[in-house]
Amino acid sequence: MGIRVKILGSNSAAPAHRRHHTAQLLNIEGKYYLMDCGEGTQLQLKRFHIKAQRINHIFISHLHGDHYLGLMGLLSTMHLMGRTKKLDLYGPKGLSEIITMQLKYSETVFNYPINFVEVDTKVSKVIHEDDFVKVISIPLNHRIPCSGYLFQEKKKNRRLIKDLLPPNLSIRNITKLKHGEDIVNEEGKVVFKNEEMTMPPKKSFSYAFCSDTKYDETIVPIIKKVDMLYHEATFLEEHADRAARTFHSTAKEAATIALKAEVGKLLLGHFSIRYKELKPIEDEAKTVFEESYLAIEGEEFVLDF
Ligand SMILES: [Zn+2]
Repeated sequence: MGIRVKILGSNSAAPAHRRHHTAQLLNIEGKYYLMDCGEGTQLQLKRFHIKAQRINHIFISHLHGDHYLGLMGLLSTMHLMGRTKKLDLYGPKGLSEIITMQLKYSETVFNYPINFVEVDTKVSKVIHEDDFVKVISIPLNHRIPCSGYLFQEKKKNRRLIKDLLPPNLSIRNITKLKHGEDIVNEEGKVVFKNEEMTMPPKKSFSYAFCSDTKYDETIVPIIKKVDMLYHEATFLEEHADRAARTFHSTAKEAATIALKAEVGKLLLGHFSIRYKELKPIEDEAKTVFEESYLAIEGEEFVLDF
């Protein structure tokens, strides 16, 4: 089923024009990964009928309020709703201290364990790996330590041609076929050739989430040829001075990074509250990189075929 990216919020600084703070939900093979958790994220999850308890991994890019002030509320609701399952929480130094302090002064002990993973925002390395996906940190250039996250789907199994499968094929042999092996009999003779019983695996997709950053080409090799890149585009070129001062990017700069990295599609977000209309942001990006789209909350972007 590929990667599905649901936009829960994509506004910067303060909620405005019916737009909420940054948060995105990735659905990879039915597993949920939350990226950033701005204020109101749990309400946005409810609004879009997403079960919060299915989230087992949360990735926070940095500790500016518009990227994580919804976290304590979401974690508390998970506790109140009876969660016992472990939650992995990734983020820069300081996040675990903030959460722990809030729990201390409210004299609350969650029913479920939180596994804090401190992300070194200066290096790109694998920070999470499971059966389906590998997550790699992306050092970003912002006013405070900030990390993006690259999701790479693992190589998928070969697809069985069901009509050709002999009845009573053992699970062991089915697994062998999925892994590209032939089926051999006890004498070691090939009984079924893999290529005759299976089709090539589905494509594995990749998605990069680059939340807050000034224009910085050092990320290009890390995100090279990703199928979809989310890159902040807080401002238009006419406010490029302001973008540089606040360590943010313009739509044109985001598109330039997309072009240089040869990505498939570009999602633009983290819109400044000064813009009520967002179409000019998309238009500006398209002058450099045609496959540019606005990350509008409620929309889902699907990488599959
Ligand atoms: Zn920021």
